Amino acid sequence: MTPEDPLDPGECRACRGTGKVASMLGGERHEVDCPWCDGTGRFVPEHDAQARWAADSAPQGE
Ligand SMILES: [Zn+2]
Repeated sequence: MTPEDPLDPGECRACRGTGKVASMLGGERHEVDCPWCDGTGRFVPEHDAQARWAADSAPQGE
């Protein structure tokens, strides 16, 4: 296995190991830290990005 192996299971596939993903929020393209790997570029098996996003977008102080 090489560091360039595209099938490296340790690489975050959402951002392809870059730690950044493109967000189209507001109709504009932005680069944001990948929520799946927290910008590390490494896949985190227990990391639930969808739950994180849901928590981030949930109303506060309800
Ligand atoms: Zn990532």
